[in-house]
Amino acid sequence: MGSRARVRRTALMGVAALLLPLGAAQAATSEQVDTTGTRGIGDPYYADYGNGGYDVDHYDIRVSYVPRTDRLAGTTRIRAHAIQDLTRFNLDFVLPVSSVRVNGQRATYTQGRHELVVTPRRALRDGDAMKVEVTYRGVPSTIRSDGIKPWIRTDDGVAAVGEPEIAAWWFPGNDHPRDKATYDVRVEVARSLEALGNGVLVSKAAHGRTRTWHWREATPMASYLAFFVVGQFDITRSRADGLPVITAVASDGGKEGRFAAADLKKTPKVIRFESRHFGDYPFDAMGGVAPAADFGFALENQTRPVYTRGFWRFGPNIYVIVHELAHQWYGDSVSVDNWRDIWLNEGFATFAEWLWSEKHRDGSAADHFDMTWQSYPRRSDFWKVTIGDPGAHNEFNGAVYDRGAMTLQALRTRIGNPAFSTLLKDWAAQHRYANASVPEFIALAEEISGQDLTSFFDAWLYTAHRPAATEANGFPADFGARSARVTRPDSWSQIRHTRALLARLEAR
Ligand SMILES: [Zn+2]
Repeated sequence: MGSRARVRRTALMGVAALLLPLGAAQAATSEQVDTTGTRGIGDPYYADYGNGGYDVDHYDIRVSYVPRTDRLAGTTRIRAHAIQDLTRFNLDFVLPVSSVRVNGQRATYTQGRHELVVTPRRALRDGDAMKVEVTYRGVPSTIRSDGIKPWIRTDDGVAAVGEPEIAAWWFPGNDHPRDKATYDVRVEVARSLEALGNGVLVSKAAHGRTRTWHWREATPMASYLAFFVVGQFDITRSRADGLPVITAVASDGGKEGRFAAADLKKTPKVIRFESRHFGDYPFDAMGGVAPAADFGFALENQTRPVYTRGFWRFGPNIYVIVHELAHQWYGDSVSVDNWRDIWLNEGFATFAEWLWSEKHRDGSAADHFDMTWQSYPRRSDFWKVTIGDPGAHNEFNGAVYDRGAMTLQALRTRIGNPAFSTLLKDWAAQHRYANASVPEFIALAEEISGQDLTSFFDAWLYTAHRPAATEANGFPADFGARSARVTRPDSWSQIRHTRALLARLEAR
């Protein structure tokens, strides 16, 4: 939905309109203005991601799923509006489609790699409402696209969870964070199973041998954050701070499941802590899901992150909860403009772990900064990653997390605590439910601090070597002496274990 994105596009269209008289003579002699929606939204890393020409307002997704066969059948109704004249448009989707309707009329379509190309019977005009209905069925685990197969089957179900891509394996859409929308998701499964999703549980209705779980996300959400998980779960429902809390842990989760359940119970407490640092919690529900499966990562699904059980292999681990819940502000409410802006998600969520550690006397953020510095020698590849623009397929490099958190701690030292804490809150407030880029963060940091931070951010975000340990780069004056004395924070091993798993997304 992204109102900011719309403003930007409108601005671009204004430019196009101004330029039109220049091209008018040519247009008159050649065919006509291009009325096909582009096959990508314009992400510099991923040409296919998202689509041009329209903006989605709401997804109404209905799927049925059978774990034994991995068969998924569904109908998705999309409410959107055209943002240009359209004779043809694309949806991102990989499952076989059996029918497409646009505004009630059958449309023709073709399916290529990753793209469903739709030609409505009647062309759409700029601003027209679009109701698109797509019916489909398939076996998602058999489909590879963009070099990946993100579908995760578990022992007794599935986890439709992934970043930057998963949506196209279960619903057609405009699959890019810049086109946010609200969601109704209905998942029909056998009565012996549970189905979890984002937001509020609207209803749970049995019919014969199946049950349909209806989840609603009423706040704009990026498509990769939409999820469903099926399996046998123990579900806990409560309320905290006026909001519904739903957590689910696999029924046969064993020792890891018990640790997960104990940490998931602290979800409202973590959100309260983070609200003090980041501003009001942006959503109308909270929770978390821990399936009995080793898929190797956690994801910040809006209102309800999903965690692989490996996070609890060595005992309690509150830090992964702190990380994923921090994303509710940085990643989910304020989403990247393009995938190259990923530092705004991962650097911030990692820094939140350091804040939690500091608050609970497990080691200060300054201690974590020092220890991280010592972990990566000057010539380490770690320092070669330019985290402000890490490159396609490199968004989940460990450096985006650790150098990312160091950047924020250095900024805190450089501009001082009061300005820094205003910055964290204002950033979340100014871009709430929208999208933002790294240069916009730099601009806000300069505005709030009243300082020129060009060389600071160049050193931390855009230089392929280790920043010099200077005060201008946000190192404390006594850095050398301090750093030599630092002892390993109590939270160090939990945070390292969390990082090792999270950065695995990169390897998939
Ligand atoms: Zn993260």
